[in-house]
Amino acid sequence: MSDHKQNFIGGTWVAGEATPNINPSNTADIIGHYARADAAQARDAIDAAKAAFPAWSRSAPLERHGILRRASDEILARKDELGQLLSREEGKTLAEGIGETVRAAQIFDFFAGETLRLAGETVPSVRPGVGVEVTREAVGVVGVITPWNFPIAIPAWKLAPALCYGNTVVFKPAELVPGCAWALVDILQRAGLPEGVLNLVMGQGSVVGQVIVQSVDVDALTFTGSQPTGAALALESAKLMRKSQMEMGGKNPFIVLADADLDVAVDCVTQGAYFSTGQRCTASSRIIVEDAIHDKFVAALSERINALSVGDALDPATQIGPVVDASQLAQNEDYIQIGQAEGARLLTGGERLSRATEGFFQRPALFTDCTNDMRIAREEIFGPVAAVIRVADYDAALEVANDTHFGLSAGIATTSLKFATHFKRNAEAGMVMVNLPTAGVDFHVPFGGRKASSFGPREQGRYAAEFYTTVKTAYTLA
Ligand code: ADP
Repeated sequence: MSDHKQNFIGGTWVAGEATPNINPSNTADIIGHYARADAAQARDAIDAAKAAFPAWSRSAPLERHGILRRASDEILARKDELGQLLSREEGKTLAEGIGETVRAAQIFDFFAGETLRLAGETVPSVRPGVGVEVTREAVGVVGVITPWNFPIAIPAWKLAPALCYGNTVVFKPAELVPGCAWALVDILQRAGLPEGVLNLVMGQGSVVGQVIVQSVDVDALTFTGSQPTGAALALESAKLMRKSQMEMGGKNPFIVLADADLDVAVDCVTQGAYFSTGQRCTASSRIIVEDAIHDKFVAALSERINALSVGDALDPATQIGPVVDASQLAQNEDYIQIGQAEGARLLTGGERLSRATEGFFQRPALFTDCTNDMRIAREEIFGPVAAVIRVADYDAALEVANDTHFGLSAGIATTSLKFATHFKRNAEAGMVMVNLPTAGVDFHVPFGGRKASSFGPREQGRYAAEFYTTVKTAYTLA
């Protein structure tokens, strides 16, 4: 089969059971067939990464710089083609797909630079004649397990720092989006990675993922995905005393105060709750609105939502692409029913839409009259569904915002410096947004959350070094 894309193990492309990659905007469109690795191949990939580690971890920074730089250049040069592949396999709009691809290029560019900025500390010892050096070293073999919602950016923000600091990698992308993962590995290997440094094992979490998670030869595990899976994998890692980093869900609040600029507030919620079809861990799903602006805000927001065009991700007129697959759509529909059964009012949306092609289209949904103890306000839905909670004032809004077991991102729309400052200091979240959507972050600063949202060191920017390196303290008497 000419379009059968293989796994990459120890510098060689390796065949496996061919699995179709289906376009959620048009289920008749098969993007390609991708090999599913088996457990033995996953073990081969770990062995290859282990064998490659000694040489790669001692490679010259300029070698790693060149590889990451070339990868960045190629991703950027092919942004339209890769962005289209992304939108075709995941369903976000073409503009979002191309934007995410550019982001991946920027991340490789950033970490290309970081290879040349490796530095430690030299400090005097408390003892005479002794010098102390504090340096960072690569950790070893890194297991990289990624979700489907950012098919190129999340792999980029894990692979780039892993390789930058001299680690070797076993990479298992999500089953639904092998296309971007395969393209990224193809680019990196042609950019000059020695064999075994980066290994791609596409396939199932319960098979390939489990081999990675249970291997004593995997020295660090980085995961992004659902909360229950992340929590389970963190426990499995702890049993092996292995370093792990988990990015999981969110139930991100966005507060609208009475003094907010209405257009800004509506913009933030439209983008934060519904763009990328609501399939972002940083999506705003609890909209906490001060009584005095509630009715005006809800009317303006629902008008905006109803005007959004939902359709084929590749149609330039589309603003909201399809849901990623049938089971996610069924889950979203379940939550629409759950919300209504709990007494929330479905103000608009939620229904399945038919389009020219068979796909998973759903109208963005807005609930009002919600309370923070409803399941639609507590559980991550991961779809285009938001719940409005009416509150009396800022203090009540802050209390509701923090009353969740998640803590990834939190936003507020206000023109008051006093409330903005108080919120930045008191929101229990890893990322706080003032007059900006909860989703949409920079690539050179830390990304991550608190409570059940995240475990382990932050990702991205220079903070990535915390996870992808280990510290050594060397003493010399001379
Ligand atoms: P989602 O349902 O949003 O895809 P998951 O947490 O199920 O989120 O999946 C995220 C990633 O974790 C995927 O690559 C998936 O294959 C992988 N995965 C799922 N279950 C396991 C598991 N038990 N062990 C290892 N990896 C897993």
